[in-house]
Amino acid sequence: MDGISLEAMAKINLGLDVLRRREDGYHEVKMVMQTVGICDRLEFNRRHGSEIRIRTDKAQIPCDEGNLVYKAIRMVRETYHIPDGMEVCLEKNIPIAAGMAGGSTDAAAAIHAMDRLFGLGLSLEEKQKIGVRIGADVPYCLLGGTALCEGIGEVLTPLPAAPQAFLVVAKPEVDVSTKLVYENLHIDRLTQHPDIDGMVDSIRGGDLAGIAGRLGNVLETVTAKRYPVIAQIKAFLIEQGALGALMSGSGPTVFGIFKEKEKAREAYEAVVGRGFTRQVYLTAFAGKANAG
Ligand code: ATP
Repeated sequence: MDGISLEAMAKINLGLDVLRRREDGYHEVKMVMQTVGICDRLEFNRRHGSEIRIRTDKAQIPCDEGNLVYKAIRMVRETYHIPDGMEVCLEKNIPIAAGMAGGSTDAAAAIHAMDRLFGLGLSLEEKQKIGVRIGADVPYCLLGGTALCEGIGEVLTPLPAAPQAFLVVAKPEVDVSTKLVYENLHIDRLTQHPDIDGMVDSIRGGDLAGIAGRLGNVLETVTAKRYPVIAQIKAFLIEQGALGALMSGSGPTVFGIFKEKEKAREAYEAVVGRGFTRQVYLTAFAGKANAG
């Protein structure tokens, strides 16, 4: 096999708590991740020589070592002594710098692609060991679906698929740096922590109202404080009938959860009409990506 095409799915956080800052600067987290139906498309082709070439349809995405796909390919090549290079074509659909793990999910797809193209026969654990060196969200992206993530994000407990739900996702026109958000988080000043254990129980019980009622993200104390549009979109989604609404990851993306597709469609149109942002999506909870 010389080439392969994969979809790399985005995620949202149904819950995100930060427990403490470790001495090495990483944060210990407890979060529930959920794959959603927004995806990038990547085409990988082996090439002679050692060069890694990336082409993409979005000008703001780096095509050199700055791209997490480049890092992932290089790391797999070095670890498994692969002489060949790679040509990658990246169709970017996931909002960028949005809290939806766009770069991490592309990196996960690159690891899956290298494994398949070079017949490495890597286990999920072996892939995750490489992935965590690229970013804390990559091990989850390699797994996909619904999962509890602890440690720095790499200690994973797969959960049963969340019940069917439709989503309106809106990314305000500001780019947020995950690193800066964590640097500005005051863990000792947090007065509320999301009920992550309750969220896990609701998922296990297939209880969508329980999930929507337990949405919580401590990073809103940094990003939503800085960008009032986040709270405005959340309130608007609730007005439009969302069971719950939350900022995903370090933001600024906001999502609202709906039980009925038609209600979600109406809310999607209302959000578009209200003009908060040009980046609005109508999607749903999704299962594992086809990349694994
Ligand atoms: P997370 O939810 O994991 O914090 P994010 O959605 O906040 O991720 P990304 O979209 O992954 O952030 O990208 C943040 C920055 O990383 C971008 O501004 C871009 O310069 C760089 N980057 C590197 N590789 C990629 C990639 N494959 N896709 C998107 N951005 C990338």
